[in-house]
Amino acid sequence: MQKSFNLPISRRDFMKIAGIAATGVIAGSIAGGNATIEAAPLHSGKIKYGDKEIPILFDADVCVAGGGPAGAAAAINAAKNGAKTVLIERGIALGGLAVLGCVYPFMDTHAPNSDTPYVTEVKERLRKHGIEPFDGVTEQTWHNPETLSLIYDEMCEETGVEVMYQTCLVDTIVSGSKIEYVIIQTIAGLYAVKAKTFIDGTGDAYLARAAGVPYEKGYEKTGYNQPLSFRFEMGGIDTKRLYQYVAVDLKEDWCKSKLPYFEIAEAMGRKQRYKLEDIMAKGIESGELTKEEAAYMQAYTIIGKDGVMSMNCPEIPVQYSATDPISYSRGARFGRKMMRHIAGYLIRHMPGFEKAFISREAVMLGARESWRIKGNYYMVEDDYHNQSRFKDAVCRTAWFIDAHGEKISEKLPKGGFYEVPYRSLITDKIKNLVVVGRCISASFILQASMRIQATCMSIGEAAGIAAAWCVDKKIFPADLKWEDIPATKRSYVSNG
Ligand SMILES: Cc1cc2nc3c(=O)[nH]c(=O)nc-3n(C[C@H](O)[C@H](O)[C@H](O)COP(=O)(O)OP(=O)(O)OC[C@H]3O[C@@H](n4cnc5c(N)ncnc54)[C@H](O)[C@@H]3O)c2cc1C
Repeated sequence: MQKSFNLPISRRDFMKIAGIAATGVIAGSIAGGNATIEAAPLHSGKIKYGDKEIPILFDADVCVAGGGPAGAAAAINAAKNGAKTVLIERGIALGGLAVLGCVYPFMDTHAPNSDTPYVTEVKERLRKHGIEPFDGVTEQTWHNPETLSLIYDEMCEETGVEVMYQTCLVDTIVSGSKIEYVIIQTIAGLYAVKAKTFIDGTGDAYLARAAGVPYEKGYEKTGYNQPLSFRFEMGGIDTKRLYQYVAVDLKEDWCKSKLPYFEIAEAMGRKQRYKLEDIMAKGIESGELTKEEAAYMQAYTIIGKDGVMSMNCPEIPVQYSATDPISYSRGARFGRKMMRHIAGYLIRHMPGFEKAFISREAVMLGARESWRIKGNYYMVEDDYHNQSRFKDAVCRTAWFIDAHGEKISEKLPKGGFYEVPYRSLITDKIKNLVVVGRCISASFILQASMRIQATCMSIGEAAGIAAAWCVDKKIFPADLKWEDIPATKRSYVSNG
């Protein structure tokens, strides 16, 4: 059974609610038949925050911070399973890096039968919206960001998730081992949200860190995070000419699929040699590109956007940190310059790019890794190589260890995979918190494998189911054993 917040959205709803405006919670005006409605706090209370009194906006069962692949999945599945759910997102679209960060496609997990029901549903919805996600050759899911954000909106609306856009999680109010409220910055100012369970889908473990959960960041051997990327899209590309040049003339066989599903790639200094290395190396010789700009270039066609490619570059030098606010901001500025140089170089020298232009910049820097919690189970590289199985597994994956600049591991044998345990999403430090996505409890190296979008979605899905279960059973997520939820209600059941 679905519960949701009853916010006014239609004129009819407005009139209904206006009738109960004696509670003083709704102010509205009607112009040309359309209702313009301001919904004041749904909860009449206030809390003390420092020397301020701030209103409580929602009293929810589940509050999710961050609407990326993991957070959106968590919110939708919590609501679908009967929890009154609010989702806090600092952008104005769900999808996180997959939408705001221009990161596509969903990589193949390489694990057999890894798609959990929610992941299957998202793929089916892409198809219903005219985006065929499968290229018939690889297992990756080619999506389209504008369609994906629409799908997330639809799913939230259908399940009753109250999405708060342009709203940033700022702080937590903790009592003992329980988060009582989170403080959010909305377009109208600061509010508090009360909830029984909180889910951290910020990718940066922001909520968990604010609540005092132990964490780590970067690689213990170097102190660096994985490099940030500033992704963008280029339009006006003659993809047929590009395909002819790369796949036919150069005989580059890196991309197995054919147009409209086509990818070009070049990464210098790796074991794998790419045929585009020469063209990029010439840019260094001519002074048009720096070594850093030429070092990594990759582009994918986007289904539903003919002539547009998603650029998986530039990769910003690792000295620009994903966890230092000043360095991060300077990295964005540096990355934007790199982007212009790469785009300009491709326009001048890459067949097919002659009339191309930058059509979109990501509105979120591509942080592959930033902060990770230290939870009740800490996943390590051995879990990957040993193909660990867990009674409380929430999903399986086998994406290779893709720690840019540090380590690219051998792939697991075909059919091999490891599982992600529920315990890596929870911490006894804060009992009513579940952490999802790329910031779960895992080492730098293991995270480099589990961070891909489909895996993050499956993790979020399980968290949403667990959160709703806990609300219903009046227990804390940290006290739940995932395997105690009946198998029919779980999104993933380990077969050991
Ligand atoms: C350059 C790059 C290339 C990649 N390539 C691929 C690929 O090809 N295929 C693939 O499957 N994966 C790829 N990945 C990995 C994958 O995209 C991410 O690991 C995945 O998106 C993580 O999902 P998430 O939900 O944990 O976090 P994110 O996608 O980071 O989402 C976090 C969300 O939380 C929001 N948020 C953060 N802080 C707050 C706050 N305080 N208040 C409110 N909202 C907040 C953000 O706006 C965002 O919407 C790539 C990653 C990068 C960086």
